[in-house]
Amino acid sequence: MSLLSIDGLVKDFGGLRAIDDLSVSVEEGEIVGVMGPNGAGKSTFFNCVSGVITPDDGSVTFDGTDVTGEAPETLARRGLVRTFQHTRELETMTVRDNVRLAAPDHPGERTIPALVRGESMQAHEEAVREQAEELIELFELDHLADDYSGTLSGGQRKLLELARTLMLEPDMLLLDEPFAGVNPTLTREIADHIRDLNEGGMTVVIIEHELETLTELVDRLVVLQQGSLLVEGDPDAVLSDERVIEAYLGG
Ligand code: ADP
Ligand code: MG
Repeated sequence: MSLLSIDGLVKDFGGLRAIDDLSVSVEEGEIVGVMGPNGAGKSTFFNCVSGVITPDDGSVTFDGTDVTGEAPETLARRGLVRTFQHTRELETMTVRDNVRLAAPDHPGERTIPALVRGESMQAHEEAVREQAEELIELFELDHLADDYSGTLSGGQRKLLELARTLMLEPDMLLLDEPFAGVNPTLTREIADHIRDLNEGGMTVVIIEHELETLTELVDRLVVLQQGSLLVEGDPDAVLSDERVIEAYLGG
């Protein structure tokens, strides 16, 4: 059984069919890359899967449960979490507070369950603080922890976004353009973190334009065109596929 199964997904915006009968599966432990020309429907696909918008038709099955139309917080509790193409941290808050704030409000849900289940709010807050510090250290944001997020570079914001996302302890992470606007050094760092997370058991789906980094990172590539699946498979085979070359050259 696949960890994520998308079956016959459709999303219309007025007269525009942004997702057109799309069926895709992701296996547990995979890293899958999603590519396709601008406007191909990549972000809309993530929006439908992560509950940001409701599809008009088709189904989303996660870990054996039909989760179509469920809200992002519900899906996060199930272990399915996404990041956004444009990061969403609060600029007038410090890096540390942004990471802490990303934790679920209530103890005993998903985050740090062993520590806090049945324990006090104070214990929950302490566990959240500890986890935030660990993630800030992991992403080498310690020297910026007291700075306002608004002062961070684009790449540092992407690291912050990843740290925030990991506060939810996802089983599956959907990343929308994690390398966009990020310099080569930080790109490599973020890619290494993604690889480590995957080796630790996290299933990852990445939308990305930066094909070199993407191809090195993923087990499989999925190419969308006009809301439909164009080609999927081994990265090298996909990139040399004539339909893919045509889709990119043809704009
Ligand atoms: P990608 O991420 O592959 O560049 P998107 O999923 O953002 O593509 O967009 C797919 C198509 O759907 C585009 O034509 C875009 O203009 C349209 N679209 C996306 N979101 C909306 C929306 N909220 N309202 C209307 N049209 C939208
Ligand atoms: Mg997009």
